[in-house]
Amino acid sequence: MKIYNTLSKSKEEFIPIEEKKIRMYVCGPTVYDYIHIGNARPMIVFDTFRRYMTSKGYDVNYISNYTDIDDKIINKANETNTSSQDVALKYIEECKKDMKEMNILPQTYAPKATEEVEDMIELIKDLLDKKYAYKSEDGTVYFDTLAFKDYGKLSHKNIDELESGFREIQIKGIDDKKNPTDFVLWKPKKENEPYWKSPFCDGRPGWHTECCVMAPKYAKGRLDIHAGGEDLIFPHHENEIAQYEASHNEPFAKYWMHNAFLNINNTKMSKSLGNFFTVRDILNKFDGRVLRLFMLQAHYRSMLNFSFELMEQTKLSLDRIFNSIENIKYILKKTSESYNENDDTNQSSIYNFSDKEKDISNQIENYKKIFFEKMDDDLNTADAITCIYEIVRIINSNVDILSSRTFLIYAYSTLNSLCNILGIDVSKPLKTSFDDTNENFDDEQINKLIEERDNYKKQKDYINADKIRDELLKMHIEIKDTQLGTKWKRV
Ligand code: AMP
Ligand code: ZN
Repeated sequence: MKIYNTLSKSKEEFIPIEEKKIRMYVCGPTVYDYIHIGNARPMIVFDTFRRYMTSKGYDVNYISNYTDIDDKIINKANETNTSSQDVALKYIEECKKDMKEMNILPQTYAPKATEEVEDMIELIKDLLDKKYAYKSEDGTVYFDTLAFKDYGKLSHKNIDELESGFREIQIKGIDDKKNPTDFVLWKPKKENEPYWKSPFCDGRPGWHTECCVMAPKYAKGRLDIHAGGEDLIFPHHENEIAQYEASHNEPFAKYWMHNAFLNINNTKMSKSLGNFFTVRDILNKFDGRVLRLFMLQAHYRSMLNFSFELMEQTKLSLDRIFNSIENIKYILKKTSESYNENDDTNQSSIYNFSDKEKDISNQIENYKKIFFEKMDDDLNTADAITCIYEIVRIINSNVDILSSRTFLIYAYSTLNSLCNILGIDVSKPLKTSFDDTNENFDDEQINKLIEERDNYKKQKDYINADKIRDELLKMHIEIKDTQLGTKWKRV
């Protein structure tokens, strides 16, 4: 497996610190509102990486935090007359719901910054002792970037070019900084803000100190992979490296992975431009699997443009995969009904591939091989998904009522397992109804109605049979009468 390492600016062979184990940390969201679709990109991309590496036999310790103390959270609490803790807890719960809908596996550890402040204070004390940090008169503690010789190594910037990060909160005493690139490790409390007691002053930690304390704590050491969006390379990740490496005197992470940004209609997503969507907005219109496929259809290091038109196209692509699977399941059901266990001739044709099927399975295996090669090449999900479409095409033009049971099962499990690696569960039908008053109907309910309709048809009661057809249509179920019986699909 090769992954692009921002640190070396090249694709490198992935070699974990401990054999078959991965310690991985992904910077999580600041929980002051519903997460937006930009936040969903690293979640989906790195969850897919985790799933893929797990499928290759790695034991992945996947750590992703919640930033639950931040100016934005404090502002929201003041606006809504609640505490910042209540704001954070509410949006952590909402974030978990969105993650579930997007089929993102729960983190192995999901630390909250506010619960780790003691350890952050210890790190800051250590940096002060080692003369990598200094304290100003008002109690603000800064990291001395000139004291750390490797500063700038991740963003590949010369220290002279570097400016203090845009994410850094403007704090009082900012003029006390020795260098513009120095950043805050601890800031004094302000009125109506949560604070912790510390040897420096009553206050709270800087954002960059949070992850570099939580990550090694839950990874039980340095990391194999540290990941996040590309906006975090500088200053956030640069500053994390400075603190960890100055204190521990060892590399913080072997590989740094960064996803490119998601834009809306080719412009940066922003509330003021009115082109801002939360994940919840999208999940109210599309199944989470459509959003997931949409995100993975681009390489994670390429800019991704979001539009509803592109989402509709993605839905059609996903429908093609689902239709292919439904078709296999339908034929399997039909053939197993006519299958006689005691018939020897039947047995041999069912349990072996025919010559034609052998040939088709070779074609499928070839695309499967390419799928894995692409995934091994810096998680090229875009090209890997193309292989799934090729497999769907081959299956659609070759699977029919004469296909052997073994071949049908093989075709089904191939699609199922490749989609599963991408976190797209094809075992459950796609959600088609997004109206709260309209529930999603399961297969059992639909089959029951179809059976009822078949009975009416047998009795030549076409009026009632048609009534059921209309009822099914309202449920977004389209039916087709075939020689083998009634076929249905969700539309
Ligand atoms: P934040 O809540 O802003 O700290 O962001 C949480 C994660 O989402 C970080 O890894 C960010 O880099 C990432 N992120 C934020 N906005 C976008 C975007 N528009 N596209 C891709 N990733 C983003
Ligand atoms: Zn972070």
